[in-house]
Amino acid sequence: MVDLCITIKSIPTTKGEIKVRIFSCESHINHALDMFVAEQKTFPMLEELRNEEKLSTVCSYCENSALYIVSSEN
Ligand SMILES: [Zn+2]
Repeated sequence: MVDLCITIKSIPTTKGEIKVRIFSCESHINHALDMFVAEQKTFPMLEELRNEEKLSTVCSYCENSALYIVSSEN
């Protein structure tokens, strides 16, 4: 089932901008990209997590290990 709870982490940067990051597993990456575009009205950057981060990071939408970070630019 799709969890409707949206988990978006907003991280203030030193420049006063808000950097948004969504962690996603393989099966939720399309959903994560859609949610980012809907919320931010801009195109996201898609990055792969480093191996050590994969072990400690959980998908924002399920209990699986995250493989990707969807984040705002800069
Ligand atoms: Zn997931």
